[in-house]
Parts: sequence; structure tokens; C-alpha cells
Amino acid sequence: MGKIKVVRCSDAGLDCSFVAHSESEEDLLNQVGKHAKEVHGMEINDELVAKVRSLIHEEEQVS
Ligand SMILES: [Zn+2]
Repeated sequence: MGKIKVVRCSDAGLDCSFVAHSESEEDLLNQVGKHAKEVHGMEINDELVAKVRSLIHEEEQVS
């Protein structure tokens, strides 16, 4: 079992159950950016990207 990168919306302080998983940081940022815009109406800017990057952590992949 490998590790996978994970970002949880709740880790950003939002009351939201969205979780993004990816092996690629760029893909993860895309997923979270799309979610943040569509669900939370957030603008995707450098500040948001930096925040999302800071929330990325690795977990054991569960198949
Ligand atoms: Zn969310």
C-alpha cells in the first residue's frame, strides 16, 4: 500500500465533508480549487493555493 496526498476541506476551517485525494499535487490543487469555487464561491488566487498547499498531507492509501 502506498501513500496518497489528501486535503480535507474541514482542515481549512470550513464545515464541509469534502476530501480530495490524489497522487499528484497539481491534480489535488485542481480538485480543491474547483470545489472551493463551485461549492464555496471562493476566488482561486495565490493565497488560496498557498493555503491548500499547506493543508496537503499524506495518508496510507485505502483501496
Ligand atoms: Zn468544501
